[in-house]
Amino acid sequence: MPGELIISVSGMRGIVGENLTEDVAISYGSSFGYFLKDRCDSKKKRLSVCIGSDSRVSGDMLKAAVAAGLCEIGIDVIDLGVVTTPGVGIMVGKLDCDGGVVITASHNPIEYNGIKLLLSNGIAPSAEDAKKIKKYYLDKTFESIAPTESGRVTQDETSDTAHIEKVLAIVDKELIAGKRFKIAVDSMNGAGCRVTAKLWSQLGCCVKGINDGATGIFAHTPEPIEANLGGLCDVVKAGDFDIGFAQDPDADRLVIVDEQGRYIGEEYSLALAAKYIFSKQKGFAATNLSTSRMIDDIAGAAGCEVIRTAVGEANVAGAMIEHDCVIGGEGNGGVIDLRVGPVRDSLVGMSLVLQLMAKTGKSISELAGEIRGYCMLKKKFEVDKVAAGNIIDKAREIFSEAKINTADGCRFDLADGWVHLRMSNTEPVMRLIAEAEDEQKAKEYVKIVSVIISEIS
Ligand code: MG
Repeated sequence: MPGELIISVSGMRGIVGENLTEDVAISYGSSFGYFLKDRCDSKKKRLSVCIGSDSRVSGDMLKAAVAAGLCEIGIDVIDLGVVTTPGVGIMVGKLDCDGGVVITASHNPIEYNGIKLLLSNGIAPSAEDAKKIKKYYLDKTFESIAPTESGRVTQDETSDTAHIEKVLAIVDKELIAGKRFKIAVDSMNGAGCRVTAKLWSQLGCCVKGINDGATGIFAHTPEPIEANLGGLCDVVKAGDFDIGFAQDPDADRLVIVDEQGRYIGEEYSLALAAKYIFSKQKGFAATNLSTSRMIDDIAGAAGCEVIRTAVGEANVAGAMIEHDCVIGGEGNGGVIDLRVGPVRDSLVGMSLVLQLMAKTGKSISELAGEIRGYCMLKKKFEVDKVAAGNIIDKAREIFSEAKINTADGCRFDLADGWVHLRMSNTEPVMRLIAEAEDEQKAKEYVKIVSVIISEIS
C-alpha cells in the first residue's frame, strides 16, 4: 500500500525519507536488539548481529541507522557491506551471530527500502516473534546502558567466498565447467552482481551480464516478471546462449529465460531445481500453498511427497528444517537448499539448473518441456476479515469434493486444479490463486470465487 510503513513478519518496508527515515531505522534496530537480548538465556552474554544491504543508494544510510540502534542497546554489529539476502543468512551462521539484518526492499521500486530480520538460525522471525518486535518498536521502552557497554561495529568482507563455497559444494563443478555454458544474466544492478560473476568464473561459464553493476540504480522495474525482462529475452534471442537468468535486487529470487529467449515463468525455477534433486535422491520437499502443482508431479514421480505450508519464507524454511527436506522454496522463483542455507537463493537455483542441464545434456527448453505445465491465474479483492471468513465458508460448500488445507486461509485441491484463498499479511486484501490444466478451467475457478465475493462483500 503506497505511502504506508509496513511492519510484518518480513520486517519493515517503506518509502525512504517519507516514512522510512533514519530515526525509524534506529528505533527498529534497537527493537530488534532488545528482542534478541530479551530471549537470550544468559543476560551477561554479549550479542552480535551481522548486517548487509542490497545495492540501493539509501542502503548505507539505513544500515548505519540500524547499526546505531543496535549499538545503542549494547549489541555488537558486523557490517558485511553490499551483500545478497541469502549471503546474510549464511554469514549469521558462519560468524555465529545472534541475528542478522538485511537492508532491502527486494523487488520493490527504487524509492522503497526495507529492514529484513533474521534469527540466529538464518530464518525470519515467526509471526509471534514479529509481533513482539513490532510492540517493542511501537512502545520504544528500551532500557538504557552505560556508555562503556555500547556495541562496536566491525567489518567482514568474506560473504561472497562463504556463499560460493557452499553453493559449489552441492553441484559437480567439473561437470558444469566442462560444458562451457553460455549464459546471459540480468542482475538488475542489485546485490547479486558481484557474487554471481564470481560464481560463473568458478563454474567456467561464458557470461554476458546486463545491468551487472551494483549501482542500485535499476535499469528497469526490478521485479523479475515477464513484463520487466524484455531486455534479457532480446539479448538471449540475438545471441547463441544456452540460458538466461534474472535475479531480483537482493538475489533471493530467480527467473529463467530459455535458449530461444522465451521467459518460462517464475514457477519453473523451483520445479527445475526439484527435478534435479529428485533425480538423485529421495526425501521431502516443502513449499507454500500458493505454489504450482508442478513440484507435486515431480516429487510424486520420484515416489516422494511435498509438504505445504502457509505463505512466507520462514514457514517454508521452518518446515524444511523440521522434516529435513531435500529441496524447497516458493513459486516466485525462490529455491531453498538447506545444505547452503535456509533462505531463498538465486545462486542455488542457477547452479542446480545448470547441473541438471550438464547431467542430462538437454537444453533448458527440453527440460522445461518435460514438466507438465499448468495455467495459474491470480486476483486480489478488497475485503475485511469477517467477509473473508464468509467467503471461505461458501467456497467450502461449492468445492465440497476438494481436499482442504487450512494452514493459511484455505486451499481447495480438486482433480483438475486448485484454488487458494488467503488474506494478505500487510493489507486488507484477499488473494485468489487458481491453477488448472488449461486456461479455460482456471478462469472457471476464478469466476466461481469472484461470484461468491461479489455476493458476500
Ligand atoms: Mg527478493
